[in-house]
Amino acid sequence: MKENLPLTNSEKYSKLKSAKAAFLDLDGVLWHGTEPIGNLESIFAKFKQAGVLPVLWTNNSTHLPETYQRKMESFGVKISLDQIISPAIAARDVFSTRFSSDARIHVFGSDALKEYLSDQGFKLVEERADAVLVSLDQDMTYRKVVKAMRMISNGAVFFATNLDHILPSEKGWVPGGGVMVRAVQTCTQKTPIILGKPEPIMMQLVSNQFGFSMDEVVAVGDRYDTDMLAGIRAGCTTVMVLTGVDNRDSIRNQEVQPDFICEDLNAFADLLISD
Ligand SMILES: [Mg+2]
Repeated sequence: MKENLPLTNSEKYSKLKSAKAAFLDLDGVLWHGTEPIGNLESIFAKFKQAGVLPVLWTNNSTHLPETYQRKMESFGVKISLDQIISPAIAARDVFSTRFSSDARIHVFGSDALKEYLSDQGFKLVEERADAVLVSLDQDMTYRKVVKAMRMISNGAVFFATNLDHILPSEKGWVPGGGVMVRAVQTCTQKTPIILGKPEPIMMQLVSNQFGFSMDEVVAVGDRYDTDMLAGIRAGCTTVMVLTGVDNRDSIRNQEVQPDFICEDLNAFADLLISD
Protein backbone atom coordinates (compact mmCIF):
# COMPACT_ATOMS: atom_id res chain seq x y z
CA MET A 1 0.00 0.00 0.00
CA LYS A 2 1.25 3.49 -0.82
CA GLU A 3 2.37 5.35 2.27
CA ASN A 4 0.61 8.62 2.95
CA LEU A 5 3.59 10.97 3.08
CA PRO A 6 3.12 14.52 4.39
CA LEU A 7 3.04 17.15 1.65
CA THR A 8 6.00 19.48 1.18
CA ASN A 9 5.42 23.22 1.62
CA SER A 10 5.32 23.85 -2.10
CA GLU A 11 2.84 21.01 -2.62
CA LYS A 12 0.64 22.48 0.13
CA TYR A 13 0.83 25.86 -1.50
CA SER A 14 -0.13 24.60 -4.94
CA LYS A 15 -3.02 22.61 -3.40
CA LEU A 16 -4.18 25.82 -1.73
CA LYS A 17 -3.92 27.77 -4.99
CA SER A 18 -6.21 25.27 -6.73
CA ALA A 19 -8.86 25.52 -3.99
CA LYS A 20 -12.45 25.98 -5.10
CA ALA A 21 -14.15 26.34 -1.71
CA ALA A 22 -13.25 27.56 1.76
CA PHE A 23 -15.27 26.32 4.74
CA LEU A 24 -15.20 29.12 7.28
CA ASP A 25 -15.96 28.61 10.94
CA LEU A 26 -17.96 31.51 12.39
CA ASP A 27 -17.12 32.57 15.94
CA GLY A 28 -13.43 33.42 16.25
CA VAL A 29 -13.02 33.49 12.45
CA LEU A 30 -15.71 35.78 10.97
CA TRP A 31 -16.73 37.50 14.15
CA HIS A 32 -16.57 37.68 17.92
CA GLY A 33 -20.23 37.75 18.98
CA THR A 34 -21.61 40.79 17.18
CA GLU A 35 -18.23 42.29 16.13
CA PRO A 36 -16.85 41.31 12.69
CA ILE A 37 -13.16 40.35 12.56
CA GLY A 38 -11.78 42.70 9.90
CA ASN A 39 -13.56 44.12 6.88
CA LEU A 40 -15.63 41.13 5.79
CA GLU A 41 -16.86 42.87 2.62
CA SER A 42 -13.29 43.33 1.41
CA ILE A 43 -12.24 39.83 2.55
CA PHE A 44 -15.13 38.18 0.68
CA ALA A 45 -14.30 40.25 -2.43
CA LYS A 46 -10.85 38.62 -2.31
CA PHE A 47 -12.45 35.14 -2.16
CA LYS A 48 -14.40 36.05 -5.28
CA GLN A 49 -11.25 37.30 -6.99
CA ALA A 50 -9.52 34.00 -6.15
CA GLY A 51 -12.48 31.99 -7.48
CA VAL A 52 -13.05 30.41 -4.07
CA LEU A 53 -16.59 29.80 -2.85
CA PRO A 54 -16.92 30.72 0.83
CA VAL A 55 -19.11 28.40 2.92
CA LEU A 56 -20.22 29.28 6.45
CA TRP A 57 -19.47 26.19 8.52
CA THR A 58 -20.80 25.94 12.07
CA ASN A 59 -21.50 23.38 14.79
CA ASN A 60 -24.22 25.66 16.14
CA SER A 61 -27.81 24.55 15.57
CA THR A 62 -29.48 27.08 17.83
CA HIS A 63 -29.80 29.64 14.99
CA LEU A 64 -31.62 29.34 11.67
CA PRO A 65 -29.52 29.58 8.46
CA GLU A 66 -31.45 32.78 7.58
CA THR A 67 -30.11 34.37 10.78
CA TYR A 68 -26.53 33.91 9.57
CA GLN A 69 -27.48 35.16 6.12
CA ARG A 70 -28.88 38.37 7.64
CA LYS A 71 -25.88 38.78 9.93
CA MET A 72 -23.52 38.55 6.93
CA GLU A 73 -25.67 41.04 5.05
CA SER A 74 -25.31 43.47 7.96
CA PHE A 75 -21.53 43.20 7.40
CA GLY A 76 -21.96 43.94 3.69
CA VAL A 77 -21.67 40.35 2.42
CA LYS A 78 -24.35 38.58 0.39
CA ILE A 79 -24.37 34.80 0.61
CA SER A 80 -26.93 32.23 -0.48
CA LEU A 81 -28.47 29.67 1.86
CA ASP A 82 -26.64 26.82 0.12
CA GLN A 83 -23.39 28.47 1.26
CA ILE A 84 -24.30 27.75 4.89
CA ILE A 85 -23.89 24.38 6.58
CA SER A 86 -24.75 23.47 10.16
CA PRO A 87 -25.65 20.18 11.85
CA ALA A 88 -29.33 21.19 11.45
CA ILE A 89 -28.94 21.40 7.67
CA ALA A 90 -26.88 18.19 7.69
CA ALA A 91 -29.69 16.51 9.67
CA ARG A 92 -32.18 17.57 7.00
CA ASP A 93 -30.01 16.06 4.24
CA VAL A 94 -29.09 12.89 6.13
CA PHE A 95 -32.68 12.23 7.33
CA SER A 96 -34.13 12.72 3.85
CA THR A 97 -31.69 10.20 2.35
CA ARG A 98 -31.88 7.70 5.16
CA PHE A 99 -35.57 7.73 6.14
CA SER A 100 -38.88 7.87 4.33
CA SER A 101 -40.72 11.19 4.11
CA ASP A 102 -43.11 10.23 6.92
CA ALA A 103 -40.27 9.33 9.32
CA ARG A 104 -40.80 10.18 12.98
CA ILE A 105 -38.05 12.40 14.39
CA HIS A 106 -37.53 13.32 18.03
CA VAL A 107 -35.41 16.39 18.81
CA PHE A 108 -33.80 16.85 22.21
CA GLY A 109 -32.46 20.32 21.46
CA SER A 110 -33.24 23.98 20.92
CA ASP A 111 -36.53 25.42 19.65
CA ALA A 112 -34.69 26.79 16.58
CA LEU A 113 -33.58 23.27 15.65
CA LYS A 114 -37.13 21.94 16.06
CA GLU A 115 -38.55 24.84 14.07
CA TYR A 116 -36.03 24.31 11.27
CA LEU A 117 -36.70 20.56 10.91
CA SER A 118 -40.43 21.02 11.19
CA ASP A 119 -40.30 23.72 8.46
CA GLN A 120 -38.40 21.23 6.29
CA GLY A 121 -41.43 18.91 6.51
CA PHE A 122 -40.26 16.42 9.14
CA LYS A 123 -42.75 14.96 11.59
CA LEU A 124 -41.44 15.80 15.07
CA VAL A 125 -42.65 13.40 17.74
CA GLU A 126 -42.41 12.81 21.48
CA GLU A 127 -42.72 9.01 21.28
CA ARG A 128 -41.99 6.05 18.99
CA ALA A 129 -39.34 7.91 16.96
CA ASP A 130 -37.32 6.47 14.05
CA ALA A 131 -34.49 8.88 14.87
CA VAL A 132 -33.50 10.87 17.93
CA LEU A 133 -31.37 13.99 17.39
CA VAL A 134 -29.59 15.32 20.47
CA SER A 135 -28.19 18.85 20.54
CA LEU A 136 -27.59 21.83 22.81
CA ASP A 137 -30.69 22.31 24.98
CA GLN A 138 -30.49 25.18 27.45
CA ASP A 139 -33.60 23.80 29.12
CA MET A 140 -32.19 20.30 29.57
CA THR A 141 -34.04 18.21 32.14
CA TYR A 142 -33.84 14.69 33.53
CA ARG A 143 -37.20 13.90 31.92
CA LYS A 144 -35.86 14.83 28.47
CA VAL A 145 -32.96 12.42 28.97
CA VAL A 146 -35.40 9.67 29.99
CA LYS A 147 -37.51 10.30 26.88
CA ALA A 148 -34.53 10.16 24.51
CA MET A 149 -33.18 7.09 26.30
CA ARG A 150 -36.45 5.18 25.91
CA MET A 151 -36.82 5.91 22.21
CA ILE A 152 -33.21 4.96 21.45
CA SER A 153 -33.51 1.79 23.54
CA ASN A 154 -36.61 0.96 21.49
CA GLY A 155 -34.62 1.15 18.27
CA ALA A 156 -34.53 4.81 17.18
CA VAL A 157 -31.26 5.77 15.45
CA PHE A 158 -29.19 8.07 17.69
CA PHE A 159 -27.86 11.25 16.03
CA ALA A 160 -25.98 14.12 17.65
CA THR A 161 -25.19 17.58 16.31
CA ASN A 162 -21.78 17.71 17.99
CA LEU A 163 -19.80 16.71 21.07
CA ASP A 164 -18.61 20.24 21.95
CA HIS A 165 -18.01 20.11 25.70
CA ILE A 166 -17.91 23.87 26.23
CA LEU A 167 -18.87 26.97 24.28
CA PRO A 168 -17.83 30.62 24.50
CA SER A 169 -20.51 33.02 25.78
CA GLU A 170 -20.51 36.67 26.77
CA LYS A 171 -20.15 35.60 30.41
CA GLY A 172 -17.37 33.05 29.79
CA TRP A 173 -17.44 29.35 28.98
CA VAL A 174 -20.73 27.43 29.24
CA PRO A 175 -21.60 23.72 28.75
CA GLY A 176 -21.94 22.70 25.08
CA GLY A 177 -24.23 20.24 23.28
CA GLY A 178 -21.82 17.42 24.13
CA VAL A 179 -23.17 17.49 27.68
CA MET A 180 -26.67 16.47 26.52
CA VAL A 181 -25.25 13.92 24.06
CA ARG A 182 -23.02 12.32 26.71
CA ALA A 183 -25.99 12.06 29.10
CA VAL A 184 -27.98 10.09 26.52
CA GLN A 185 -24.91 8.12 25.49
CA THR A 186 -24.23 7.14 29.11
CA CYS A 187 -27.69 5.77 29.81
CA THR A 188 -28.19 4.05 26.44
CA GLN A 189 -24.60 2.82 26.04
CA LYS A 190 -25.04 3.65 22.34
CA THR A 191 -22.70 5.69 20.15
CA PRO A 192 -24.37 8.50 18.17
CA ILE A 193 -23.81 9.39 14.52
CA ILE A 194 -22.23 12.84 14.81
CA LEU A 195 -23.25 15.37 12.18
CA GLY A 196 -21.02 18.27 13.24
CA LYS A 197 -17.28 18.88 13.38
CA PRO A 198 -14.82 17.16 13.79
CA GLU A 199 -16.71 14.59 11.69
CA PRO A 200 -16.42 15.44 7.96
CA ILE A 201 -20.14 14.87 7.08
CA MET A 202 -21.00 18.59 6.74
CA MET A 203 -18.07 19.26 4.38
CA GLN A 204 -18.93 16.19 2.30
CA LEU A 205 -22.59 17.18 1.90
CA VAL A 206 -21.78 20.66 0.57
CA SER A 207 -18.89 19.43 -1.58
CA ASN A 208 -21.08 16.76 -3.17
CA GLN A 209 -23.74 19.34 -3.89
CA PHE A 210 -21.29 21.68 -5.67
CA GLY A 211 -19.14 18.90 -7.15
CA PHE A 212 -15.91 19.70 -5.27
CA SER A 213 -13.43 17.03 -4.31
CA MET A 214 -11.86 17.21 -0.85
CA ASP A 215 -8.49 18.26 -2.39
CA GLU A 216 -10.19 21.40 -3.65
CA VAL A 217 -11.52 22.38 -0.24
CA VAL A 218 -9.92 24.45 2.53
CA ALA A 219 -11.04 24.18 6.17
CA VAL A 220 -10.56 27.48 8.01
CA GLY A 221 -11.06 27.67 11.76
CA ASP A 222 -9.80 28.87 15.11
CA ARG A 223 -10.21 25.60 16.99
CA TYR A 224 -8.00 22.57 16.56
CA ASP A 225 -10.29 19.93 18.12
CA THR A 226 -13.23 20.76 15.84
CA ASP A 227 -12.26 22.77 12.73
CA MET A 228 -8.73 21.52 12.10
CA LEU A 229 -9.53 17.91 12.98
CA ALA A 230 -12.55 17.92 10.62
CA GLY A 231 -10.33 19.23 7.82
CA ILE A 232 -7.58 16.70 8.55
CA ARG A 233 -10.11 13.82 8.61
CA ALA A 234 -11.70 14.98 5.36
CA GLY A 235 -8.28 15.23 3.67
CA CYS A 236 -8.52 18.90 2.74
CA THR A 237 -6.16 21.84 3.23
CA THR A 238 -6.31 23.18 6.78
CA VAL A 239 -5.83 26.81 7.79
CA MET A 240 -5.85 27.90 11.42
CA VAL A 241 -6.47 31.57 12.18
CA LEU A 242 -5.19 33.17 15.37
CA THR A 243 -8.28 35.26 16.18
CA GLY A 244 -10.06 32.70 18.34
CA VAL A 245 -9.54 29.80 20.72
CA ASP A 246 -6.22 28.20 19.70
CA ASN A 247 -2.76 29.63 19.15
CA ARG A 248 0.67 28.34 18.12
CA ASP A 249 1.44 27.23 21.67
CA SER A 250 -1.85 25.42 22.35
CA ILE A 251 -1.44 23.19 19.28
CA ARG A 252 2.30 22.60 19.63
CA ASN A 253 1.89 18.98 20.76
CA GLN A 254 -0.63 17.98 18.08
CA GLU A 255 0.85 15.30 15.86
CA VAL A 256 -0.75 16.67 12.68
CA GLN A 257 -0.29 20.43 12.35
CA PRO A 258 -2.53 22.68 10.23
CA ASP A 259 -1.13 23.23 6.71
CA PHE A 260 -1.11 27.00 7.24
CA ILE A 261 -1.43 29.32 10.23
CA CYS A 262 -2.70 32.83 9.41
CA GLU A 263 -2.97 35.84 11.68
CA ASP A 264 -6.61 36.34 10.65
CA LEU A 265 -9.10 35.67 7.85
CA ASN A 266 -7.83 38.64 5.85
CA ALA A 267 -4.31 37.17 5.84
CA PHE A 268 -5.80 33.91 4.51
CA ALA A 269 -7.68 35.80 1.76
CA ASP A 270 -4.42 37.59 0.83
CA LEU A 271 -2.68 34.23 0.58
CA LEU A 272 -5.36 33.04 -1.87
CA ILE A 273 -4.89 35.99 -4.21
CA SER A 274 -1.07 36.27 -3.89
CA ASP A 275 1.16 35.26 -6.84
MG1 LIG B 1 -14.77 29.07 16.25
